[in-house]
Amino acid sequence: MSQPPPRSQSRRIRCVVFNAALGPLDYKVPAHLDVVPGQVVVCPLGPRQILGVVWEEDRLPSADVPEHKLRPILGVVPVPPLGAPLRRLIEWCADYYMAPLSAVARMALSSTAALQGGSTVTEYRLSGREPGRLTPQRAQAMDLLIDQQATIRELAEIAEVSDGVLRGMVNAGLLEPVTVDADRPYPAADPRHAVPELTPTQAQVAGRLVEAVAARRFVTFLLDGVTGSGKTETYAEAIAAALEQGRQVLVLLPEIALTQSFLARFEARFGVEPVTWHSSLKSSERRRAWRAVAQGRAQVVVGARSALFLPFAALGLIVVDEAHEISFKQDDGVRYNARDVAVMRGYFESIPVVLASATPALESLHMAASGRYERLVLPSRFGGAGLPDIRILDLREQAPERGHWLAPPLVEGLRERLAKGEQSLLFLNRRGYAPLTLCRTCGYRFQCPNCSAWLVEHRLSQRLACHHCGHEVPTPRACPECGEPDCLVACGPGVERIADEVATILPEARVALVTSDTLTSAAKAAEFVAQAENKAIDVIVGTQLVTKGYHFPDLTLVGVVDADMGLEGGDLRAAERTYQQVAQVAGRAGRGEKPGEVLIQTRHPDAPVIAALASGDRDAFYAAETEARREAHAPPFGRWAAIIVSSEDEAEARDAARAIGGTAPRLDDVMILGPAPAPLSLLRGRYRYRLLVNARRSSEVQKVIRQWLEPFRFPQGVRVAVDIDPYSFV
Ligand code: ADP
Ligand code: ZN
Repeated sequence: MSQPPPRSQSRRIRCVVFNAALGPLDYKVPAHLDVVPGQVVVCPLGPRQILGVVWEEDRLPSADVPEHKLRPILGVVPVPPLGAPLRRLIEWCADYYMAPLSAVARMALSSTAALQGGSTVTEYRLSGREPGRLTPQRAQAMDLLIDQQATIRELAEIAEVSDGVLRGMVNAGLLEPVTVDADRPYPAADPRHAVPELTPTQAQVAGRLVEAVAARRFVTFLLDGVTGSGKTETYAEAIAAALEQGRQVLVLLPEIALTQSFLARFEARFGVEPVTWHSSLKSSERRRAWRAVAQGRAQVVVGARSALFLPFAALGLIVVDEAHEISFKQDDGVRYNARDVAVMRGYFESIPVVLASATPALESLHMAASGRYERLVLPSRFGGAGLPDIRILDLREQAPERGHWLAPPLVEGLRERLAKGEQSLLFLNRRGYAPLTLCRTCGYRFQCPNCSAWLVEHRLSQRLACHHCGHEVPTPRACPECGEPDCLVACGPGVERIADEVATILPEARVALVTSDTLTSAAKAAEFVAQAENKAIDVIVGTQLVTKGYHFPDLTLVGVVDADMGLEGGDLRAAERTYQQVAQVAGRAGRGEKPGEVLIQTRHPDAPVIAALASGDRDAFYAAETEARREAHAPPFGRWAAIIVSSEDEAEARDAARAIGGTAPRLDDVMILGPAPAPLSLLRGRYRYRLLVNARRSSEVQKVIRQWLEPFRFPQGVRVAVDIDPYSFV
């Protein structure tokens, strides 16, 4: 038997350090420490310290530093090492999406607090002591902090006062400290808390999922079920199976706004809420969740795409709900698609992955058709509810009144539902009041100073706002160009304007506006759901936020205000996205006992996607779209990559883009377009040029791009971003 190598020889380690500009670095391990791959360590870097993750030496090339020059690591962070499957996932992402390994690894260590010691935090809450006379700020805090408990910093945000005000209140005894165990366990989910009786079809599908969870093997399911078919109830059985095995589950949702209704349903099924993970968690909540995940104590995590990189100790199942949603694609930093990364994580972890959707991405259907995904179908709605009737409203024949946006039959429909006490929903995927504001006198148009985009009027907040960079100005009374007062005209509709129109036509209707501007918190989302369920709302007017997830039994009419909007712009997925959005929002109608009706307003009733929606022929639509993609060498038959070159200096950006274009490789299976100014040629103050790479599926496009860009050294201000499988073509 061979002896283990003497200790001194295995004391050299390779670390991925958290600095995107540096490659892997070698260190040595002092005698009193022990490390294994995946461990988080503190490394010296010049006079400073930096965090790093220990990696397998043979998987990462690094400069050959002689033994005697190695510096010792300073310590080991007391968290479990990142598991081998997660390390493989990080490598895969870095390679596939052409991102620095450290940038991807950092996504796994997404809570700084979790890495720091200290097992208690001090939080504060109102002490209940009677205040004497209060300053206005203290009075405000007393109001807003009822039932709240958090750190001073977090309470200050909730109460909208400074930390100082709250510290004063602590000293006055109005707020009291509470010592909280930072790692207190989450209540346990009970897989058998309330098991629904599944329909035979649901049971069959659930059985297949449960079997796969038990087998602990990698398989990707496409759970393809019409809206209201009970996809959630069905995959809940697979979650229960994983829990019974003591394994963890990750459920990815496309939008935080959706979590609220999901949490309630989860609690009804499993007795407790799941652990949540998204960008607006407080840092103490992040810490608690991260550590519970890493120690295997968090049973089910429901999160946004970033949850995908959490260091699960014993992952047994991944579910991606509404898997077709484009918000799973991250468009800055590491530009990954969470749906695809979820499948890769399942592969490395050897566990099943469920992609659930009523309108799967064409790529996913193609994977199913070619046998790489297993397709499971729920063809009908639960409880015998039929799918809604869909009618096309040709706006060229049935024009709305001047200055209005709703055609007479849709107005009639709204009126009828109101009279019957039923609910309606109007969908328009545009926030604000109007997408463009101009001066009647001189023609001046309000444009963003940082972006090539118009400012959108938000009448509720009385502002003009850029939807790309967030730039905002109060809506002026006079034209800034010619000085004429009261001469500004709003052009085109946004949801706020549609809500106004409904209020004019049906003054007695209770209208709810649902956009990311109005549902700004989980509490507001919950309030909206409660009001809709209690029939305190007659008409919902909303953006894509209302297209999915909601289940309101009395909602019987859906109006799509402008089905053509998404088709402009020539994006390769424009038709597919329009189909998905309209089909999803149509899926909100008639989910209860009363039948639903959908009216689609369009100027292009003959466009294939509109015709397919009208006839409800999904297969025909996908078949036609598949052929169009095949001809265009678009995904899934070919691949795209975008190279975006940007700088605050227009000439610098252009020169860099031209230089790149000048050395474009000439290959049979790769076509390169550009450089050209990007459609959004100015974004957040940066001028942007774009090159598009279209390649055959089989080509090694990342390798080609890497070799192509490798030799370039650009001025400091130039950024070159590569977007593999882009969704956004602006
Ligand atoms: P989908 O996610 O496919 O749109 P849902 O899971 O939201 O469908 O189901 C639609 C509605 O039907 C929900 O209110 C759900 O609770 C209910 N439902 C579905 N299947 C069952 C079942 N087997 N027993 C009881 N209720 C069910
Ligand atoms: Zn802007």
